Amino acid sequence: MKKESVAVIGGGTAGLIAARSLSADGIITTVYDQKPVPGEGIHASGILSLTGLGTLGLDYTKAVTNTLRGANIHANGRTMRIRARGAVAAVLDRKRLNEICIDNAERAGTSIVTGKRIARKELDALAEDSVIIGADGAVSTVAKHFGMGAAPPYAITYKQEYNVTMAEPDAADLFFDSRSWPGLFAWLCPNAKDVLEVGVGTTAHSVNSRHVLERFLRTKEVAEAIGKSRPICGGASIIPMARRERIVDPKREVLLVGDAAGQVKSTTGGGIIFGGNAALMAADAIKGHIRNGLDLSAYEKRFMSRYGMDMKLHSMINRLYSSLGPESIGRIISMSKAIGIEGFLERYGDMDRPSLVIRRFFLRGLAD
Ligand SMILES: Cc1cc2nc3c(=O)[nH]c(=O)nc-3n(C[C@H](O)[C@H](O)[C@H](O)COP(=O)(O)OP(=O)(O)OC[C@H]3O[C@@H](n4cnc5c(N)ncnc54)[C@H](O)[C@@H]3O)c2cc1C
Repeated sequence: MKKESVAVIGGGTAGLIAARSLSADGIITTVYDQKPVPGEGIHASGILSLTGLGTLGLDYTKAVTNTLRGANIHANGRTMRIRARGAVAAVLDRKRLNEICIDNAERAGTSIVTGKRIARKELDALAEDSVIIGADGAVSTVAKHFGMGAAPPYAITYKQEYNVTMAEPDAADLFFDSRSWPGLFAWLCPNAKDVLEVGVGTTAHSVNSRHVLERFLRTKEVAEAIGKSRPICGGASIIPMARRERIVDPKREVLLVGDAAGQVKSTTGGGIIFGGNAALMAADAIKGHIRNGLDLSAYEKRFMSRYGMDMKLHSMINRLYSSLGPESIGRIISMSKAIGIEGFLERYGDMDRPSLVIRRFFLRGLAD
């Protein structure tokens, strides 16, 4: 039977962005989310490049709580200080961002069913008359049910927020120490002018992520930053650290987007820009499939041609970092400063697409 509707499992940013695009083109689309209010209680941050945000077609401005001009990268007592001339990233309130995505999708005509967890046994019935988008996060039921490869390796995270006044509320601090938090890093991020987020992420699963955070809280830098302030909120989560093997099954008409597909930068864990763009590409492939019988594999081809190299580079940089001790990372920071990498990154850095930075470096060198 020819399918004419789409069922999106998961009402996070990726699922809702896909739904908005499909509904806006007149395709009957229903989003199912297990939570009564999708996006509520999410323990993830929302630092997004302004260039990346511009690609999602969202009016995100009402979710912005702060803007950032750069970052301090720390390892073994050395610091690389990167500051662009103006804001390069926005910090978004994730619950508010989800509300905006819901509003945009509903205005386009999407039906959203909340408080409904789709179990594996329900997927076959839905798949009888609808194309399925699995946007159900890192532990994807859709991916498991349709046999779309093993779940990617993941990092565990824990973060808390504190009400404090900051000396420099327009820069985040990233602490690289592959012994204390292997696989990812620890961070301080000014979520708003008076709200500091303190977080850790690690691929070492044998530890409790909250205990790792407690260790970070005892460091001099964090103790100085938060003083005697108490946490106002916090919680644990996970981040997929690699792409899932298969993200589309053209025969069964199933596509994965966002964390379900592992479309995350493995250097930082950021997934909204890649996942959101993948969602738009998946929606386009479905439109072509429903209207003109085109092959759904076009989705994977398009995603890989735009972001494949960047995903690979993020993963290579993460592997390199994971294989080095803090002393070596500290030495790399000193060396990079000596040859002018700081200034180059201030002018040409790109949080999402290292391929563009590398291309610029090979074409023009470090000079202006
Ligand atoms: C600590 C932390 C910090 C982060 N920081 C950033 C950052 O600064 N920038 C950035 O870009 N990204 C960041 N990320 C990553 C970002 O949060 C994710 O990439 C993004 O949320 C993925 O969106 P998604 O829609 O694919 O999945 P999710 O946001 O996980 O949404 C999945 C939805 O599916 C629903 N669901 C799951 N199973 C079912 C089911 N069976 N039936 C119905 N509903 C279901 C869930 O309720 C959920 O609403 C961070 C993540 C963490 C953990």
